[in-house]
Amino acid sequence: MERDFHKIKKSFISLLGERWVSDKSRDITFYNRDLWPREVISSKFGVFRHKPDLILWPKDEKEIAEIVRIANENRLNIIPFGAGSGVCGATVPTSSVQNIIVDIKRMNRILNVDYQSLILDVEAGAIGFPLETQLNNKGFTLGHFPSSIYCSSVGGWLAARSAGQESSKYGKIEDMVVSLRAVTGNGEIIDTSDIISSDIGQDLNQLFIGSEGTLGIIYSACLNISYLPKFKTYSSYLFKNIGHGLNAIREMMQNDVGGTVIRLYDELDSFIALGHKKEKEKKENILKKYFEDLNGDFSDIFLKRILSFPQILNSLSNLITQGCLMIILHSGNENDYVKYCQITSQKIAEKYGGRDMGEEPAKRWEKNRYSISYKQPRIFYAGGFVDTMEIATTWDRIEELYYEVKKVIQDKAFLMAHFSHAYQDGCSIYFTFASRAENYNDAVKRYDAVWKNALDTVIKMGATVSHHHGIGISKAEHLRKQIGEQTQLFRILKKTFDPNNIMNRGKFFSEQ
Ligand SMILES: Cc1cc2nc3c(=O)[nH]c(=O)nc-3n(C[C@H](O)[C@H](O)[C@H](O)COP(=O)(O)OP(=O)(O)OC[C@H]3O[C@@H](n4cnc5c(N)ncnc54)[C@H](O)[C@@H]3O)c2cc1C
Repeated sequence: MERDFHKIKKSFISLLGERWVSDKSRDITFYNRDLWPREVISSKFGVFRHKPDLILWPKDEKEIAEIVRIANENRLNIIPFGAGSGVCGATVPTSSVQNIIVDIKRMNRILNVDYQSLILDVEAGAIGFPLETQLNNKGFTLGHFPSSIYCSSVGGWLAARSAGQESSKYGKIEDMVVSLRAVTGNGEIIDTSDIISSDIGQDLNQLFIGSEGTLGIIYSACLNISYLPKFKTYSSYLFKNIGHGLNAIREMMQNDVGGTVIRLYDELDSFIALGHKKEKEKKENILKKYFEDLNGDFSDIFLKRILSFPQILNSLSNLITQGCLMIILHSGNENDYVKYCQITSQKIAEKYGGRDMGEEPAKRWEKNRYSISYKQPRIFYAGGFVDTMEIATTWDRIEELYYEVKKVIQDKAFLMAHFSHAYQDGCSIYFTFASRAENYNDAVKRYDAVWKNALDTVIKMGATVSHHHGIGISKAEHLRKQIGEQTQLFRILKKTFDPNNIMNRGKFFSEQ
Protein backbone atom coordinates (compact mmCIF):
# COMPACT_ATOMS: atom_id res chain seq x y z
CA MET A 1 0.00 0.00 0.00
CA GLU A 2 2.83 2.38 1.04
CA ARG A 3 4.67 1.61 -2.19
CA ASP A 4 1.47 2.12 -4.23
CA PHE A 5 0.92 5.49 -2.65
CA HIS A 6 4.52 6.42 -3.40
CA LYS A 7 3.75 5.65 -7.04
CA ILE A 8 0.59 7.74 -6.91
CA LYS A 9 2.53 10.64 -5.41
CA LYS A 10 5.08 10.34 -8.22
CA SER A 11 2.36 10.51 -10.85
CA PHE A 12 1.05 13.71 -9.24
CA ILE A 13 4.59 15.12 -9.23
CA SER A 14 5.06 14.39 -12.91
CA LEU A 15 1.71 16.07 -13.59
CA LEU A 16 2.09 19.22 -11.45
CA GLY A 17 5.81 19.49 -10.71
CA GLU A 18 7.51 18.81 -7.35
CA ARG A 19 6.73 22.26 -5.95
CA TRP A 20 2.98 21.76 -6.21
CA VAL A 21 2.72 18.40 -4.43
CA SER A 22 3.35 18.18 -0.70
CA ASP A 23 3.26 15.76 2.18
CA LYS A 24 5.49 17.95 4.33
CA SER A 25 4.41 17.87 7.94
CA ARG A 26 3.72 21.64 8.11
CA ASP A 27 1.32 21.36 5.16
CA ILE A 28 -0.31 18.19 6.48
CA THR A 29 -0.86 19.98 9.80
CA PHE A 30 -2.19 23.14 8.19
CA TYR A 31 -4.70 21.29 6.03
CA ASN A 32 -5.96 18.99 8.80
CA ARG A 33 -9.03 21.16 9.36
CA ASP A 34 -10.98 24.19 8.27
CA LEU A 35 -12.39 26.68 10.81
CA TRP A 36 -15.08 24.36 12.17
CA PRO A 37 -14.95 25.29 15.87
CA ARG A 38 -15.22 21.63 16.93
CA GLU A 39 -11.89 20.97 15.23
CA VAL A 40 -10.47 24.22 16.60
CA ILE A 41 -11.33 22.96 20.10
CA SER A 42 -9.47 19.72 19.28
CA SER A 43 -6.32 21.46 18.14
CA LYS A 44 -6.39 23.81 21.13
CA PHE A 45 -6.34 20.71 23.35
CA GLY A 46 -3.59 19.18 21.18
CA VAL A 47 -5.87 16.53 19.67
CA PHE A 48 -5.24 16.04 15.94
CA ARG A 49 -7.73 13.45 14.76
CA HIS A 50 -7.43 13.78 11.01
CA LYS A 51 -4.75 14.45 8.48
CA PRO A 52 -4.62 14.55 4.72
CA ASP A 53 -2.13 12.35 2.87
CA LEU A 54 -1.19 14.81 0.15
CA ILE A 55 -1.81 18.41 -0.83
CA LEU A 56 -1.97 19.37 -4.52
CA TRP A 57 -2.03 22.82 -6.10
CA PRO A 58 -3.12 22.49 -9.75
CA LYS A 59 -2.87 25.50 -12.05
CA ASP A 60 -5.67 24.88 -14.54
CA GLU A 61 -8.70 22.87 -15.47
CA LYS A 62 -6.68 20.32 -17.44
CA GLU A 63 -4.59 19.52 -14.39
CA ILE A 64 -7.74 19.19 -12.28
CA ALA A 65 -9.21 16.74 -14.81
CA GLU A 66 -6.02 14.68 -14.72
CA ILE A 67 -6.00 14.65 -10.89
CA VAL A 68 -9.57 13.38 -10.98
CA ARG A 69 -8.57 10.66 -13.46
CA ILE A 70 -5.74 9.45 -11.19
CA ALA A 71 -8.06 9.57 -8.18
CA ASN A 72 -10.64 7.43 -9.97
CA GLU A 73 -8.01 4.94 -11.01
CA ASN A 74 -6.74 4.59 -7.43
CA ARG A 75 -9.99 5.23 -5.55
CA LEU A 76 -8.63 8.21 -3.61
CA ASN A 77 -10.73 10.81 -1.81
CA ILE A 78 -10.43 14.32 -3.28
CA ILE A 79 -11.24 17.26 -1.03
CA PRO A 80 -11.57 20.56 -2.93
CA PHE A 81 -10.11 23.39 -0.85
CA GLY A 82 -10.78 27.07 -1.46
CA ALA A 83 -9.47 29.09 1.48
CA GLY A 84 -10.47 26.82 4.38
CA SER A 85 -12.70 29.41 6.06
CA GLY A 86 -15.63 26.98 6.17
CA VAL A 87 -17.08 26.52 9.64
CA CYS A 88 -18.76 23.12 9.22
CA GLY A 89 -15.83 20.74 8.72
CA ALA A 90 -16.43 20.42 4.97
CA THR A 91 -12.71 20.12 4.17
CA VAL A 92 -11.72 17.94 7.14
CA PRO A 93 -10.04 14.78 5.79
CA THR A 94 -12.05 12.02 7.47
CA SER A 95 -12.11 9.26 4.89
CA SER A 96 -10.40 5.92 5.51
CA VAL A 97 -9.03 5.93 1.95
CA GLN A 98 -6.18 8.34 1.13
CA ASN A 99 -7.29 11.95 1.43
CA ILE A 100 -5.99 14.32 -1.23
CA ILE A 101 -6.54 18.03 -0.68
CA VAL A 102 -6.85 19.88 -3.98
CA ASP A 103 -6.23 23.54 -3.21
CA ILE A 104 -7.66 25.79 -5.92
CA LYS A 105 -5.93 29.05 -4.93
CA ARG A 106 -3.47 29.16 -7.84
CA MET A 107 -6.47 29.58 -10.13
CA ASN A 108 -7.41 33.10 -9.11
CA ARG A 109 -7.50 35.09 -12.34
CA ILE A 110 -10.25 37.26 -13.69
CA LEU A 111 -10.79 35.64 -17.11
CA ASN A 112 -13.05 38.31 -18.56
CA VAL A 113 -15.34 41.18 -17.62
CA ASP A 114 -18.17 41.95 -20.00
CA TYR A 115 -18.85 45.56 -19.02
CA GLN A 116 -21.85 45.77 -21.32
CA SER A 117 -23.66 42.79 -19.92
CA LEU A 118 -22.17 43.23 -16.44
CA ILE A 119 -20.83 39.67 -16.25
CA LEU A 120 -17.58 38.70 -14.56
CA ASP A 121 -15.85 35.46 -15.54
CA VAL A 122 -13.51 34.47 -12.73
CA GLU A 123 -11.52 31.42 -11.64
CA ALA A 124 -12.77 29.69 -8.50
CA GLY A 125 -9.62 30.30 -6.44
CA ALA A 126 -10.01 34.10 -6.43
CA ILE A 127 -10.14 35.45 -2.87
CA GLY A 128 -12.97 37.85 -2.04
CA PHE A 129 -11.26 41.07 -1.05
CA PRO A 130 -8.69 41.40 -3.88
CA LEU A 131 -11.40 40.46 -6.37
CA GLU A 132 -13.80 43.10 -5.02
CA THR A 133 -11.00 45.70 -5.00
CA GLN A 134 -10.17 45.03 -8.65
CA LEU A 135 -13.83 45.48 -9.59
CA ASN A 136 -14.15 48.63 -7.46
CA ASN A 137 -11.16 50.16 -9.25
CA LYS A 138 -13.17 49.96 -12.46
CA GLY A 139 -16.36 51.31 -10.84
CA PHE A 140 -18.10 47.95 -10.28
CA THR A 141 -18.93 45.61 -7.43
CA LEU A 142 -19.74 41.93 -7.12
CA GLY A 143 -21.98 42.84 -4.19
CA HIS A 144 -20.84 39.79 -2.22
CA PHE A 145 -19.47 40.75 1.19
CA PRO A 146 -19.22 37.79 3.58
CA SER A 147 -17.52 38.64 6.88
CA SER A 148 -14.84 36.21 5.68
CA ILE A 149 -14.15 38.28 2.55
CA TYR A 150 -10.40 38.39 3.34
CA CYS A 151 -10.13 34.61 3.66
CA SER A 152 -12.72 32.92 1.42
CA SER A 153 -12.82 32.09 -2.29
CA VAL A 154 -15.32 32.22 -5.13
CA GLY A 155 -15.34 28.39 -5.33
CA GLY A 156 -15.95 28.10 -1.59
CA TRP A 157 -18.81 30.61 -1.78
CA LEU A 158 -20.47 28.66 -4.58
CA ALA A 159 -19.90 25.26 -3.02
CA ALA A 160 -21.35 26.38 0.33
CA ARG A 161 -24.13 28.75 -0.90
CA SER A 162 -22.61 31.74 0.79
CA ALA A 163 -24.41 34.97 1.71
CA GLY A 164 -22.79 38.39 1.88
CA GLN A 165 -23.76 41.21 4.23
CA GLU A 166 -25.52 43.05 1.37
CA SER A 167 -27.67 40.08 0.34
CA SER A 168 -30.87 42.13 0.70
CA LYS A 169 -29.78 44.15 -2.34
CA TYR A 170 -27.56 41.80 -4.37
CA GLY A 171 -28.88 38.38 -3.32
CA LYS A 172 -26.91 35.36 -2.11
CA ILE A 173 -24.09 34.00 -4.28
CA GLU A 174 -26.45 31.57 -6.03
CA ASP A 175 -28.53 34.51 -7.24
CA MET A 176 -25.52 35.97 -9.07
CA VAL A 177 -24.49 32.92 -11.07
CA VAL A 178 -24.91 33.07 -14.83
CA SER A 179 -22.97 29.88 -15.54
CA LEU A 180 -20.05 27.84 -14.27
CA ARG A 181 -17.41 25.37 -15.39
CA ALA A 182 -16.60 22.32 -13.31
CA VAL A 183 -14.74 19.02 -13.53
CA THR A 184 -17.12 16.34 -12.29
CA GLY A 185 -16.09 13.33 -10.22
CA ASN A 186 -16.07 11.20 -13.36
CA GLY A 187 -13.60 13.56 -15.02
CA GLU A 188 -15.99 15.29 -17.41
CA ILE A 189 -15.73 19.05 -17.90
CA ILE A 190 -19.13 20.69 -17.65
CA ASP A 191 -19.75 24.21 -18.91
CA THR A 192 -23.27 25.21 -17.98
CA SER A 193 -23.22 28.24 -20.30
CA ASP A 194 -23.73 25.79 -23.19
CA ILE A 195 -26.97 24.69 -21.60
CA ILE A 196 -28.12 27.87 -19.86
CA SER A 197 -27.80 30.04 -22.95
CA SER A 198 -30.46 27.95 -24.65
CA ASP A 199 -32.71 28.67 -21.65
CA ILE A 200 -34.41 25.30 -21.49
CA GLY A 201 -34.58 22.42 -19.06
CA GLN A 202 -33.20 22.16 -15.55
CA ASP A 203 -30.80 24.66 -13.99
CA LEU A 204 -27.54 22.74 -13.85
CA ASN A 205 -25.83 25.59 -11.97
CA GLN A 206 -27.99 24.94 -8.97
CA LEU A 207 -26.97 21.27 -8.83
CA PHE A 208 -23.35 22.27 -8.30
CA ILE A 209 -24.00 25.27 -6.11
CA GLY A 210 -24.16 24.09 -2.52
CA SER A 211 -22.79 20.61 -3.32
CA GLU A 212 -19.72 21.23 -1.10
CA GLY A 213 -17.21 19.54 -3.37
CA THR A 214 -19.09 16.22 -3.41
CA LEU A 215 -19.97 16.22 -7.13
CA GLY A 216 -16.90 17.84 -8.66
CA ILE A 217 -14.49 20.75 -8.60
CA ILE A 218 -15.73 24.14 -9.75
CA TYR A 219 -13.07 25.70 -11.96
CA SER A 220 -14.66 29.05 -12.83
CA ALA A 221 -17.93 30.98 -12.76
CA CYS A 222 -19.65 33.78 -14.64
CA LEU A 223 -21.25 36.07 -12.08
CA ASN A 224 -23.44 39.16 -12.38
CA ILE A 225 -21.77 42.37 -11.25
CA SER A 226 -23.27 45.82 -10.60
CA TYR A 227 -22.24 49.47 -10.78
CA LEU A 228 -20.71 50.72 -7.55
CA PRO A 229 -23.48 52.69 -5.85
CA LYS A 230 -22.90 56.46 -5.78
CA PHE A 231 -25.32 57.26 -2.98
CA LYS A 232 -25.67 55.77 0.46
CA THR A 233 -27.71 56.56 3.57
CA TYR A 234 -27.33 55.29 7.12
CA SER A 235 -30.17 54.90 9.66
CA SER A 236 -30.62 53.27 13.05
CA TYR A 237 -33.64 52.72 15.26
CA LEU A 238 -34.21 51.35 18.72
CA PHE A 239 -37.27 49.11 19.22
CA LYS A 240 -38.90 48.11 22.46
CA ASN A 241 -38.39 44.41 21.70
CA ILE A 242 -37.54 41.91 18.97
CA GLY A 243 -41.16 41.46 17.90
CA HIS A 244 -41.60 45.14 17.02
CA GLY A 245 -38.30 45.23 15.15
CA LEU A 246 -39.14 42.08 13.17
CA ASN A 247 -42.51 43.47 12.16
CA ALA A 248 -40.75 46.56 10.86
CA ILE A 249 -38.19 44.55 8.83
CA ARG A 250 -40.93 42.39 7.33
CA GLU A 251 -42.95 45.40 6.25
CA MET A 252 -39.88 47.14 4.83
CA MET A 253 -38.88 44.06 2.82
CA GLN A 254 -42.40 43.54 1.54
CA ASN A 255 -42.51 47.17 0.40
CA ASP A 256 -39.09 47.05 -1.31
CA VAL A 257 -37.46 49.52 1.09
CA GLY A 258 -35.50 47.05 3.24
CA GLY A 259 -32.23 48.53 2.06
CA THR A 260 -28.86 47.09 1.17
CA VAL A 261 -28.10 45.99 4.71
CA ILE A 262 -30.71 45.53 7.40
CA ARG A 263 -29.91 44.00 10.77
CA LEU A 264 -31.80 43.76 14.03
CA TYR A 265 -29.91 42.88 17.22
CA ASP A 266 -31.45 41.16 20.23
CA GLU A 267 -31.31 42.94 23.61
CA LEU A 268 -27.86 41.71 24.56
CA ASP A 269 -26.29 42.23 21.14
CA SER A 270 -27.85 45.73 21.06
CA PHE A 271 -26.54 46.45 24.52
CA ILE A 272 -23.02 45.63 23.37
CA ALA A 273 -23.39 47.53 20.10
CA LEU A 274 -24.68 50.64 21.83
CA GLY A 275 -22.45 50.25 24.86
CA HIS A 276 -19.19 51.29 23.22
CA LYS A 277 -20.14 54.93 22.96
CA LYS A 278 -21.39 55.17 26.49
CA GLU A 279 -18.32 53.38 27.82
CA LYS A 280 -16.30 56.47 27.10
CA GLU A 281 -18.68 58.55 29.18
CA LYS A 282 -19.28 56.17 32.11
CA LYS A 283 -17.42 53.13 33.23
CA GLU A 284 -19.05 52.38 36.53
CA ASN A 285 -21.83 50.16 35.23
CA ILE A 286 -20.55 46.72 36.17
CA LEU A 287 -23.08 44.83 34.07
CA LYS A 288 -22.14 46.77 30.99
CA LYS A 289 -18.48 46.17 31.63
CA TYR A 290 -19.09 42.40 31.80
CA PHE A 291 -20.68 42.24 28.40
CA GLU A 292 -18.51 44.77 26.68
CA ASP A 293 -15.47 42.87 27.79
CA LEU A 294 -16.84 39.76 26.16
CA ASN A 295 -16.91 41.49 22.81
CA GLY A 296 -13.84 43.61 23.13
CA ASP A 297 -10.68 44.00 25.07
CA PHE A 298 -11.05 41.32 27.71
CA SER A 299 -8.57 39.57 29.94
CA ASP A 300 -8.18 35.80 29.62
CA ILE A 301 -8.73 35.16 33.33
CA PHE A 302 -11.88 37.21 33.29
CA LEU A 303 -13.08 35.36 30.22
CA LYS A 304 -12.35 31.96 31.75
CA ARG A 305 -14.41 32.90 34.75
CA ILE A 306 -17.46 34.21 32.94
CA LEU A 307 -17.57 31.51 30.28
CA SER A 308 -17.70 28.78 32.89
CA PHE A 309 -21.11 30.01 34.07
CA PRO A 310 -23.28 30.57 31.00
CA GLN A 311 -26.53 30.27 32.97
CA ILE A 312 -25.57 33.21 35.18
CA LEU A 313 -24.51 35.30 32.23
CA ASN A 314 -27.70 34.53 30.35
CA SER A 315 -29.82 35.43 33.38
CA LEU A 316 -27.97 38.70 33.73
CA SER A 317 -28.55 39.46 30.08
CA ASN A 318 -32.29 38.98 30.62
CA LEU A 319 -32.16 42.06 32.88
CA ILE A 320 -31.25 44.26 29.94
CA THR A 321 -34.20 46.35 28.88
CA GLN A 322 -32.53 48.92 26.70
CA GLY A 323 -34.29 47.65 23.56
CA CYS A 324 -33.30 46.20 20.20
CA LEU A 325 -31.15 48.08 17.73
CA MET A 326 -31.81 48.05 14.00
CA ILE A 327 -29.34 49.40 11.48
CA ILE A 328 -30.21 50.06 7.83
CA LEU A 329 -28.02 51.08 4.91
CA HIS A 330 -29.67 52.12 1.67
CA SER A 331 -27.60 52.52 -1.50
CA GLY A 332 -28.03 53.06 -5.21
CA ASN A 333 -27.24 55.28 -8.15
CA GLU A 334 -30.39 57.38 -8.06
CA ASN A 335 -30.25 59.79 -5.14
CA ASP A 336 -34.00 60.48 -5.06
CA TYR A 337 -34.77 56.77 -5.00
CA VAL A 338 -32.28 56.07 -2.19
CA LYS A 339 -33.78 58.94 -0.17
CA TYR A 340 -37.30 57.71 -0.86
CA CYS A 341 -36.37 54.24 0.45
CA GLN A 342 -34.81 55.73 3.57
CA ILE A 343 -37.81 57.96 4.33
CA THR A 344 -40.33 55.18 3.70
CA SER A 345 -38.41 52.75 5.90
CA GLN A 346 -38.27 55.42 8.61
CA LYS A 347 -42.06 55.75 8.51
CA ILE A 348 -42.37 51.98 8.91
CA ALA A 349 -39.86 51.94 11.77
CA GLU A 350 -41.81 54.70 13.54
CA LYS A 351 -45.08 52.84 13.02
CA TYR A 352 -43.62 50.01 15.15
CA GLY A 353 -42.29 52.37 17.79
CA GLY A 354 -38.72 52.59 16.48
CA ARG A 355 -36.82 55.49 18.07
CA ASP A 356 -34.45 57.26 15.67
CA MET A 357 -30.84 56.71 16.79
CA GLY A 358 -29.28 58.62 13.91
CA GLU A 359 -26.56 57.56 11.50
CA GLU A 360 -23.81 56.71 13.95
CA PRO A 361 -24.62 53.06 14.88
CA ALA A 362 -25.04 52.14 11.20
CA LYS A 363 -21.79 53.90 10.27
CA ARG A 364 -19.99 52.17 13.12
CA TRP A 365 -21.27 48.81 11.91
CA GLU A 366 -19.92 49.53 8.43
CA LYS A 367 -16.53 50.54 9.78
CA ASN A 368 -16.22 47.30 11.76
CA ARG A 369 -18.10 45.07 9.35
CA TYR A 370 -15.32 42.49 8.96
CA SER A 371 -13.62 42.74 12.33
CA ILE A 372 -16.04 41.14 14.82
CA SER A 373 -15.49 37.51 13.75
CA TYR A 374 -11.74 37.84 14.15
CA LYS A 375 -12.07 38.47 17.88
CA GLN A 376 -13.05 34.85 18.42
CA PRO A 377 -9.51 33.44 18.84
CA ARG A 378 -9.27 35.19 22.23
CA ILE A 379 -12.04 32.96 23.54
CA PHE A 380 -10.27 29.81 22.30
CA TYR A 381 -7.02 31.01 23.87
CA ALA A 382 -8.86 31.36 27.15
CA GLY A 383 -9.81 27.67 26.93
CA GLY A 384 -13.36 28.36 25.81
CA PHE A 385 -15.12 27.95 22.50
CA VAL A 386 -17.31 30.13 20.37
CA ASP A 387 -19.41 29.33 17.33
CA THR A 388 -22.16 30.81 15.22
CA MET A 389 -25.40 29.26 14.03
CA GLU A 390 -27.34 30.70 11.10
CA ILE A 391 -30.82 29.31 10.75
CA ALA A 392 -33.81 30.68 8.88
CA THR A 393 -37.55 30.49 8.61
CA THR A 394 -40.61 32.33 7.39
CA TRP A 395 -41.94 35.46 9.12
CA ASP A 396 -44.82 33.67 10.85
CA ARG A 397 -42.38 31.56 12.93
CA ILE A 398 -39.26 33.66 13.21
CA GLU A 399 -39.77 35.13 16.68
CA GLU A 400 -40.91 31.84 18.16
CA LEU A 401 -37.89 30.09 16.61
CA TYR A 402 -35.56 32.59 18.26
CA TYR A 403 -37.04 32.00 21.74
CA GLU A 404 -37.27 28.21 21.36
CA VAL A 405 -33.63 27.83 20.29
CA LYS A 406 -32.52 30.18 23.04
CA LYS A 407 -34.44 28.13 25.59
CA VAL A 408 -32.74 24.83 24.71
CA ILE A 409 -29.16 26.09 24.77
CA GLN A 410 -29.04 28.75 27.43
CA ASP A 411 -27.99 26.41 30.24
CA LYS A 412 -25.00 25.24 28.19
CA ALA A 413 -23.71 28.35 26.47
CA PHE A 414 -23.82 32.08 26.72
CA LEU A 415 -25.59 33.42 23.65
CA MET A 416 -26.75 36.42 21.71
CA ALA A 417 -28.24 36.90 18.27
CA HIS A 418 -29.07 39.19 15.43
CA PHE A 419 -31.50 38.94 12.53
CA SER A 420 -30.09 39.59 9.06
CA HIS A 421 -30.45 38.42 5.43
CA ALA A 422 -34.11 39.42 5.30
CA TYR A 423 -36.43 38.58 2.42
CA GLN A 424 -40.03 39.13 1.49
CA ASP A 425 -41.01 35.79 3.02
CA GLY A 426 -38.63 35.37 5.94
CA CYS A 427 -35.29 36.03 7.51
CA SER A 428 -32.28 34.36 9.11
CA ILE A 429 -31.26 34.34 12.76
CA TYR A 430 -27.55 34.42 13.50
CA PHE A 431 -26.75 33.12 16.97
CA THR A 432 -23.32 33.53 18.51
CA PHE A 433 -22.69 31.22 21.45
CA ALA A 434 -19.73 30.73 23.74
CA SER A 435 -18.91 28.38 26.57
CA ARG A 436 -16.07 26.58 28.28
CA ALA A 437 -15.12 23.27 29.91
CA GLU A 438 -12.07 22.12 31.82
CA ASN A 439 -10.99 19.32 29.50
CA TYR A 440 -11.29 18.18 25.89
CA ASN A 441 -13.99 15.55 26.41
CA ASP A 442 -16.22 17.88 28.41
CA ALA A 443 -15.72 20.72 25.94
CA VAL A 444 -16.68 18.59 22.95
CA LYS A 445 -19.61 17.08 24.85
CA ARG A 446 -20.92 20.51 25.69
CA TYR A 447 -20.33 21.81 22.16
CA ASP A 448 -22.17 18.85 20.60
CA ALA A 449 -25.06 19.19 23.05
CA VAL A 450 -25.58 22.84 22.11
CA TRP A 451 -25.77 22.01 18.41
CA LYS A 452 -27.96 18.94 18.91
CA ASN A 453 -30.47 20.74 21.11
CA ALA A 454 -30.62 23.71 18.76
CA LEU A 455 -30.93 21.78 15.50
CA ASP A 456 -33.47 19.32 16.93
CA THR A 457 -35.59 22.36 17.77
CA VAL A 458 -35.02 23.91 14.34
CA ILE A 459 -36.24 20.73 12.63
CA LYS A 460 -39.19 20.38 14.98
CA MET A 461 -40.24 23.90 14.03
CA GLY A 462 -39.87 23.33 10.29
CA ALA A 463 -37.08 25.88 9.92
CA THR A 464 -33.88 25.37 7.91
CA VAL A 465 -30.70 24.08 9.57
CA SER A 466 -28.43 26.36 7.55
CA HIS A 467 -28.85 29.69 5.82
CA HIS A 468 -25.34 30.25 4.42
CA HIS A 469 -22.56 28.37 6.23
CA GLY A 470 -23.37 25.07 4.54
CA ILE A 471 -23.60 21.55 5.94
CA GLY A 472 -20.18 19.85 6.00
CA ILE A 473 -19.95 17.26 8.73
CA SER A 474 -21.51 19.37 11.45
CA LYS A 475 -25.08 19.48 10.14
CA ALA A 476 -25.11 16.43 7.84
CA GLU A 477 -27.06 14.22 10.22
CA HIS A 478 -29.70 16.85 10.89
CA LEU A 479 -30.05 17.70 7.20
CA ARG A 480 -30.71 14.03 6.42
CA LYS A 481 -33.36 14.00 9.14
CA GLN A 482 -34.87 17.18 7.81
CA ILE A 483 -35.27 16.20 4.18
CA GLY A 484 -35.75 12.45 4.64
CA GLU A 485 -36.68 10.69 1.42
CA GLN A 486 -35.26 13.46 -0.74
CA THR A 487 -31.74 12.22 -0.01
CA GLN A 488 -32.54 9.68 -2.75
CA LEU A 489 -32.31 12.53 -5.24
CA PHE A 490 -28.78 13.31 -4.12
CA ARG A 491 -27.80 9.64 -4.47
CA ILE A 492 -28.90 9.75 -8.11
CA LEU A 493 -26.84 12.91 -8.72
CA LYS A 494 -23.85 11.36 -7.01
CA LYS A 495 -24.09 8.22 -9.16
CA THR A 496 -24.19 10.37 -12.27
CA PHE A 497 -21.42 12.84 -11.50
CA ASP A 498 -19.22 10.83 -9.14
CA PRO A 499 -19.95 7.12 -9.54
CA ASN A 500 -16.84 5.98 -7.66
CA ASN A 501 -17.44 8.34 -4.71
CA ILE A 502 -14.03 10.00 -4.98
CA MET A 503 -15.33 13.50 -4.15
CA ASN A 504 -15.32 14.70 -0.55
CA ARG A 505 -16.54 11.52 1.13
CA GLY A 506 -18.54 11.82 4.32
CA LYS A 507 -19.60 15.44 3.76
CA PHE A 508 -23.04 16.80 3.00
CA PHE A 509 -24.90 13.70 1.66
CA SER A 510 -21.80 11.79 0.56
CA GLU A 511 -21.21 8.32 2.01
CA GLN A 512 -17.95 7.69 3.87
C1 LIG B 1 -14.62 34.83 10.29
C2 LIG B 1 -15.59 34.16 9.39
C3 LIG B 1 -16.68 34.85 8.89
C4 LIG B 1 -17.57 34.23 8.03
N1 LIG B 1 -18.61 34.96 7.49
C5 LIG B 1 -19.40 34.42 6.54
C6 LIG B 1 -20.42 35.19 5.91
O1 LIG B 1 -20.62 36.36 6.21
N2 LIG B 1 -21.17 34.60 4.94
C7 LIG B 1 -20.94 33.29 4.57
O2 LIG B 1 -21.63 32.81 3.67
N3 LIG B 1 -20.01 32.53 5.17
C8 LIG B 1 -19.23 33.05 6.12
N4 LIG B 1 -18.24 32.30 6.71
C9 LIG B 1 -18.09 30.89 6.32
C10 LIG B 1 -17.15 30.67 5.12
O3 LIG B 1 -16.32 31.78 4.88
C11 LIG B 1 -17.96 30.35 3.88
O4 LIG B 1 -18.55 29.07 4.05
C12 LIG B 1 -17.19 30.36 2.57
O5 LIG B 1 -18.11 30.19 1.52
C13 LIG B 1 -16.11 29.29 2.47
O6 LIG B 1 -15.22 29.63 1.43
P1 LIG B 1 -13.76 28.99 1.35
O7 LIG B 1 -13.17 29.44 0.06
O8 LIG B 1 -12.99 29.29 2.56
O9 LIG B 1 -14.14 27.46 1.25
P2 LIG B 1 -13.50 26.20 1.99
O10 LIG B 1 -13.67 26.31 3.45
O11 LIG B 1 -12.16 25.94 1.46
O12 LIG B 1 -14.50 25.07 1.44
C14 LIG B 1 -15.86 25.08 1.74
C15 LIG B 1 -16.56 23.96 0.96
O13 LIG B 1 -16.49 24.26 -0.43
C16 LIG B 1 -15.80 23.23 -1.15
N5 LIG B 1 -15.04 23.91 -2.19
C17 LIG B 1 -14.15 24.92 -2.07
N6 LIG B 1 -13.72 25.30 -3.27
C18 LIG B 1 -14.33 24.51 -4.18
C19 LIG B 1 -14.30 24.41 -5.60
N7 LIG B 1 -13.54 25.21 -6.35
N8 LIG B 1 -15.07 23.46 -6.19
C20 LIG B 1 -15.86 22.64 -5.46
N9 LIG B 1 -15.93 22.70 -4.13
C21 LIG B 1 -15.19 23.62 -3.49
C22 LIG B 1 -14.96 22.52 -0.10
O14 LIG B 1 -14.68 21.18 -0.46
C23 LIG B 1 -15.89 22.60 1.10
O15 LIG B 1 -16.87 21.60 0.98
C24 LIG B 1 -17.37 32.88 7.64
C25 LIG B 1 -16.28 32.17 8.16
C26 LIG B 1 -15.40 32.80 9.01
C27 LIG B 1 -14.23 32.02 9.52
